Formats: sequence, C-alpha cells, structure tokens
Amino acid sequence: MLIVMRHGATDAEVRRVVAVIEEMGYKAQPMPGVQRTAVGLVGNDGRVDASRLEGLPGVQEVIHVSKPYKQVSREWKAENTVVRLGGGGAVQVGGADVVAIAGPCSVESERQIIDAARLVKDAGAVILRGGAWKPRTSPYSFQGLGRPGLRLLGKARDETGLLICTEAMDPEGVGYVAEVADIVQIGARNMQNFSLLKAAGRAKKPVLLKRGMSATIEELLLSAEYLLAEGNHDVILCERGIRGFDTATRNVFDLTAIPVVHKLSHLPIIADPSHGTGLRDKVIPMARAAVAAGADGIMIEVHPDPERALSDGAQTLFPEQFAQLMREVRVIADVIGRRVAEPALIDG
Ligand code: PEP
Ligand code: MN
Repeated sequence: MLIVMRHGATDAEVRRVVAVIEEMGYKAQPMPGVQRTAVGLVGNDGRVDASRLEGLPGVQEVIHVSKPYKQVSREWKAENTVVRLGGGGAVQVGGADVVAIAGPCSVESERQIIDAARLVKDAGAVILRGGAWKPRTSPYSFQGLGRPGLRLLGKARDETGLLICTEAMDPEGVGYVAEVADIVQIGARNMQNFSLLKAAGRAKKPVLLKRGMSATIEELLLSAEYLLAEGNHDVILCERGIRGFDTATRNVFDLTAIPVVHKLSHLPIIADPSHGTGLRDKVIPMARAAVAAGADGIMIEVHPDPERALSDGAQTLFPEQFAQLMREVRVIADVIGRRVAEPALIDG
C-alpha cells in the first residue's frame, strides 16, 4: 500500500503518517519524490484499514498496490530508478545513458583479463565483466579461478579504471564479490536461490539480477523484490534469454521483456544477447535491437582470442566485432534520444 502525500505536505505530516503506520504494526518507508512524498506501507497482509490513513492531514490518496511484487512496481515508485556506480557515481544505469558491460565469460589468467579490459575500454565499455566463479552445467567444465580470479579483476580495474561486474554463486561468495566488484551479479541459474538473494539484498553493492532460463517476468520481479525487501534498492535486471523448443539458438532472446519490465517496474533492465542467442553472429543484431527496444545497457562477451576461451567461446565476440558493435550502438542510442556512456566518465 502506498500513501501519497499532497504537494507541499509538511515534514510533520509525513512523520505522522509514518507513526500511524508503525502503530498499526507495519513498516513505513518514506520516499521523497521530485513532486511529492509518498510513504510505502510494507508487511501488508491485505487486511490494512486504509481509512485510518486516508483521513490524516496532508494525505492525498492511498493506493493499493495490486501486483504480487510491491517495491519493484511502478505503482510503488513512478520515477525510474537510476543506479549510480563506482565511488563518484559517474556511471549511471537507468538514466539517459546506455551502458556497455563487456569482457570474457570467465577470468582465465592475468594476461587474458588485462588484455580484455583494455580492448573493451578502447571500444567504449565502462564496465568489465568476467566470472571468477562459473555456474557450469557440467561439473567437468572449467569452474572458474575463484578468489584468485577476483584479485585479477581488481588488477584489471587498477590498470584501466573500468568498473567490475562479476557473479556470486552462494551467500558466502557475496561477501568476497562485494569487496571487489562494483556490481554483484546473480546468474540465471540462481535467480530463485532465495538465500543468495537475501545475502545480496544485505550487501552494500548494486546487484545485477539475471532472468532465470525458465522464469516468467513476474517471477523475475518477485526475485528482485527479495533484494529490495532486504534494503538493497540498487538493482539492475537482465534479460538473457529463456528456454524454448527451437534448437536453432541456445535460448530464445526475449526482447519484449525490455518494454514489459519498463512498464511494470521502475528498475533498469539491460540485455545480454551473448547468453540470449549463444551464437556469435546473432549477438550483434540482437544487441542493436535491444538498444533500439530501450535497454538501459548491454552485456556482451568479448575475449582477446575467443577461439581459445575456456567457456562460451562460440558466443564470444572478437575484439574488432565488439568495436564495430559499439560504433553502431552509439548511432542507435542517438536516434532514440539516449547516448552511450563513454569511458571518459571513469577516467580521473
Ligand atoms: C554469465 O553472465 O556469466 C552467465 C553465466 O550468464 P547466465 O547466468 O545468464 O547464464
Ligand atoms: Mn558465459
């Protein structure tokens, strides 16, 4: 339930609403807005007596949030959430900028990740990706370097200034990842790992939540609700393809998820056409399409030598392909009144 205050409502009136909500046994969450303040009522079991709140001074209206998710919904918060990254918050996801996150599937060696960082930055990425822990379908596939991989990501950041996005696979890993990374990634296979979501919700770092391969958009939003419910509001969603019956591509890249999520939620959503399609030559057109569809960013797998990649080589772009994609994406962003966040933002 959302209590919308009148334009010009006083602080004392807002405090009174908060006090009454707490008296009723619920949690109050004031949300100052540009136009007016709203107060969210959390812990609502559907039996709240709205009339008590409607009559309070300064209250304009009480809105019943009808979706199963609350804090992630547009009803709860009309303005877009802008996630500010890094110390200075120069890189923002969810505002006018379109942000490129790029790098290899896995961190493999110091040489590989530093080379990858340099080349993705030269092409225009502001965030470096690379898994230190890899959720692999087969236990015999490369599982990632673990903590040494995280240290290498830290080195790549020191060398290039790029921000870091990397995956945490379990609640213990969230602590390690949050120490080094600017964004803690939760992978598709873990979208409904609720203890992991709770741990990430308590982390003091932004979270990138990837859509599960069999998850509906509503389930994605409910998983994001776990993060907000734990107090972490810096959440970025990611469409990365869902399971279909057609084996022509690795997954069915659901482009419509982008405008659907933007309508239902204030959270930013980015697109990962690398995992979405699984095929290098399909990544480029789908990345272009995602930006045209309004994605707040793209996540692209790029490797200095994709043919030797230890994971996901077939969907990984060659450096020159990524540079070309970035040139194209700048033009597409411009057409829809956006611009691509440039590495100059993270320099100095
Ligand atoms: C990844 O981005 O490294 C990854 C494993 O992707 P997903 O969780 O979408 O499969
Ligand atoms: Mn991968």
